[in-house]
Amino acid sequence: MGLTAAGRRRHESRMSANPDNRIPADVSPMDLALEEARQAAQRDEVPVGAVIVLRAERRIVARAGNETEARQDPTAHAEMLAIRRAAEALGRSRLTGCDLYVTLEPCAMCAGAIAHARLDRLYFGATDPKGGAVLHGGRLFAQPTCHHRPDIYDGLGESDAAALLKQFFAERR
Ligand SMILES: [Zn+2]
Repeated sequence: MGLTAAGRRRHESRMSANPDNRIPADVSPMDLALEEARQAAQRDEVPVGAVIVLRAERRIVARAGNETEARQDPTAHAEMLAIRRAAEALGRSRLTGCDLYVTLEPCAMCAGAIAHARLDRLYFGATDPKGGAVLHGGRLFAQPTCHHRPDIYDGLGESDAAALLKQFFAERR
């Protein structure tokens, strides 16, 4: 929001020097998720990023990008890694009071993990008609066997998230 380049640099250094990971008022958690997605692309991973925020304190408890290639682990999606790291950081298996921001509509595995983690809210960027399981496919949270349904907000940072994915796959075609 109208930050000069110098102001942005000051801002970023304040973020990294910030020991309790509070998010400045003019930064959206989705911007941080997009940053994770960009870093994933640089590692040759599908560019998806996620952050988990303890809402009342506006504090980041975990952030992650895809690491399926680096870890040779098909479950190492950004959301899975962020959920594990958040549970570890908070020392509890239920992430009540936390919100997940992810750049792409979660797949069935990650949607299941979000339900198990009892995350309050799910914010996602681009929709994924081929692999998503929130608005597409199995629509996991709408199933009667799903025991926890987060509040869902889609389309946040959608164009940036979609552009990253499109560029990534175009370069690899
Ligand atoms: Zn997933």
